Amino acid sequence: LAKQAGKDRYQLFDIQLEAAIRQKQETLKAISKGLKSGQFVLYYQPKINMQTLAFEGAEALIRWQHPQDGLLTPYAFLPVTQGHQLELEIGEWVLNTALQQMQVWSLNGFDCPLSINIAAQQIQFPGFVDQLKLALKKYPHVPPQHVQLEILETSALEDIASVTPILSQCRDLGVSLALDDFGTGYSSLTYLKRLPIDCLKIDQGFVRDIIGDADDLSIIQGVLGLAKAFNLHVIAEGVETSAHCRQLLALGCLSGQGYGIARPMPACELPGWVCNVLPTLCF
Ligand code: C2E
Ligand code: MG
Ligand code: MG
Ligand code: MG
Repeated sequence: LAKQAGKDRYQLFDIQLEAAIRQKQETLKAISKGLKSGQFVLYYQPKINMQTLAFEGAEALIRWQHPQDGLLTPYAFLPVTQGHQLELEIGEWVLNTALQQMQVWSLNGFDCPLSINIAAQQIQFPGFVDQLKLALKKYPHVPPQHVQLEILETSALEDIASVTPILSQCRDLGVSLALDDFGTGYSSLTYLKRLPIDCLKIDQGFVRDIIGDADDLSIIQGVLGLAKAFNLHVIAEGVETSAHCRQLLALGCLSGQGYGIARPMPACELPGWVCNVLPTLCF
């Protein structure tokens, strides 16, 4: 009897597993179709100097304009693509679309440095540096110095020996590199010293509680100290309130990005935001 029950359970497991696999295949197919038919767009979230209100650029963030489900954020579809060819295809689309947008803006007199998120797999893909080289060649009005690649701290650390030379090759093309979600990956000092990077993006988890939580405050102070020692730029993510802004400024963290400054917006809104809204901000 016990044996039979075990068999039934296995069978149920098989059925559930099969359904999950089929569902995933369907989603992958839908994403692939959506990518080919222009359902994906990039939104742009400004980065500013909170002290001077100078515009520092924007981060490109992918969205899926789903025909039934509306505007989807990356959490709804990027995890499904992890480890699939599609992840590379999306990455290439993001890179090209972001640079194309920079070129259009630049030709219209709006110079906008952009940072672009790079998936863990993407950076390890043998053709990645060539993809970047090709995109920079395709959009000659984009100064490579205005392109920043954001690598998750965790993915940079995962395989530091193979990632380091790739990052160096990217940097040789003139682009800069930021470690995203910094503080979540336990970088050791040795690693930080070895990685060819330019900027640390303090994870929003530490910024959120900066007012009430002494530990988070200390962590941010620590990151600022590290950055100074290694001559890196620092930007705080997830700046939601004026209080966050003021506290960060008091600590000496001048660059910020977050809902308290601006939400991610469609490309057509960014130049107007920089001209009309940014000068009126007051923290
Ligand atoms: P991330 O690179 O750390 O980007 C910051 C995320 O925090 C964005 O979410 C942004 O909309 C959100 N955010 C910004 N300010 C605030 C704030 O003040 N409060 C809160 N709670 N959230 C804020 P989003 O756009 O949903 O993207 C989520 C993640 O998906 C990104 O995290 C990034 O890791 C990934 N991602 C986004 N676009 C791309 C892309 O084009 N390629 C790749 N590979 N990954 C992407
Ligand atoms: Mg990012
Ligand atoms: Mg981040
Ligand atoms: Mg994140």
